[in-house]
Amino acid sequence: MDDGLLLAGGLVVDGTGAPGRMADVLVHDGLVRAIGPGLAGPGVARPGRVRDVAGLVVAPGFVDIHTHSDLTLLSDPRGLSKVHQGVTTEVVGNCGLGVAPLPEGADRAAIRRAVSYLDLDPGVDWGWRDFPGYLAALAGGGPGVNVGALVGHLVLHAAVCGFADRAAGRDELDRMSGLLRDALDAGAVGLSTGLAYAPLPYARPEELVALATVTARAGKVFTWHVRNYEDGLLDSVRQAVGVARATGCRTQISHLCAVGRRNWGAVNRALELVDAANAEGLSVGVDIYPYLHGNAPLAQLLPAWAQEGSTDAWTARLRDPAVRAAVREEWRDRPTTWDDISIAWTPGARPGSADERIGRTVGQLARARGVSADEVALDLLAELGTGVLMTAGGRSEDDLLAVLAHPAAVVASDGLSLDPGGVTGAGMPHPRSYGCFPRYLGRYAGDLPDAIRRCTSAPAARVGLTDRGVLRPGAPADIVVFDPARIRDTATFEAPHRFADGIDLVLVNGVVTVDRGRHTGARAGRVLRS
Ligand SMILES: [Zn+2]
Repeated sequence: MDDGLLLAGGLVVDGTGAPGRMADVLVHDGLVRAIGPGLAGPGVARPGRVRDVAGLVVAPGFVDIHTHSDLTLLSDPRGLSKVHQGVTTEVVGNCGLGVAPLPEGADRAAIRRAVSYLDLDPGVDWGWRDFPGYLAALAGGGPGVNVGALVGHLVLHAAVCGFADRAAGRDELDRMSGLLRDALDAGAVGLSTGLAYAPLPYARPEELVALATVTARAGKVFTWHVRNYEDGLLDSVRQAVGVARATGCRTQISHLCAVGRRNWGAVNRALELVDAANAEGLSVGVDIYPYLHGNAPLAQLLPAWAQEGSTDAWTARLRDPAVRAAVREEWRDRPTTWDDISIAWTPGARPGSADERIGRTVGQLARARGVSADEVALDLLAELGTGVLMTAGGRSEDDLLAVLAHPAAVVASDGLSLDPGGVTGAGMPHPRSYGCFPRYLGRYAGDLPDAIRRCTSAPAARVGLTDRGVLRPGAPADIVVFDPARIRDTATFEAPHRFADGIDLVLVNGVVTVDRGRHTGARAGRVLRS
């Protein structure tokens, strides 16, 4: 038992999309106990503490269903960059890039290199073998935010089939399906794929259908980093919708955007495909972060054939002049330029001792060296493999606005929990890891209750976490209190490691975790199983 907290006199926006109302919110023992006017008045059970939140918005904590904090929450469980922006729940394991299960026979070192996008702290010990073991590691760290985890398709595929471009056999499909079923039974909230990340470009349609069938039977979600967000966007969305139709699986198209000027506007046609699928009775959603740049391994720009084999194998091949010439040939018609691509991270980056390539575009590096940008990119990939991360532009704000306005769209960061003072505070990561939700609310939100719904109950429903994202009596007290006039992001591409402004108070399971912009040290998050 604690002695409770009363948030008095705020504008309560409950996450359902209902209009805000002036009310007090009583929190006790981790739960919302009552919402209504006059709870602070005489004759009412008095809470131990009263916090005057007049002039502020009281909302459910943000539910960030698209994150990559799988390992950074083991590096620093506080989840600083997220909880400081009002996030109280993260869903890790997106884009196919999970870290479990790692069954007998899996090449753990090769898998770890293949997901280096997540793996910013070499000190994290991958001690687990199965999905319950990974969830136990997360829980044992004492996370500062609630965490749900998807099963990453990359781990399943690489553990069973390795890294070669070939179809999985019947036995291998059965083995992947069994591993997935076990993980879903252990509480994984769903499955993710990332068809741009080797070896997933080699997964055949029957593999996606088999895994979606297992996921649908469990009543869980299948999230898709689709095959291509450039010229192939519409075919890629059609593929995801086709698997949803074949299996009935609840489906989420991750970070819907169109990259390259010649593809601008394609998101509207992608959204029409989503509308048509939902009109048929399927459940297809989309999410997006409010920025015009993405962030991914530079290797994502390589054609699939050039990434076959383990990272060691393909980086060695990239030193072969004939292979380089063949990649350059494929790059002749890319929809973005090398000045749209900057280096965000290289392995070994540490706060204060950054690689001088970080923060510069591939085009700038090429001009400084007097060689072609293609050669600079190939050299980086041959040297650093999946470890070199890029920030990539080439998107339109009209497209972003179209996605944000769509009824099926929710806001999700695609970022990581980072610690500006620790190992993960290095490099030039995407500022969404610090600013996604405040940026959306400060800059892109129209109707506030609807905007908050898109950050809370709507994303929670997509991943089946139905007790999160709504303020109501009996619900866990995950709460953000913010100043609607001041909320904004301060993290930029040039200075990304900055917390957001305007967040007054964050409660995770009823425990004050951020108070007037300062972290209290509390770690009251839980591992959420569905
Ligand atoms: Zn992705």
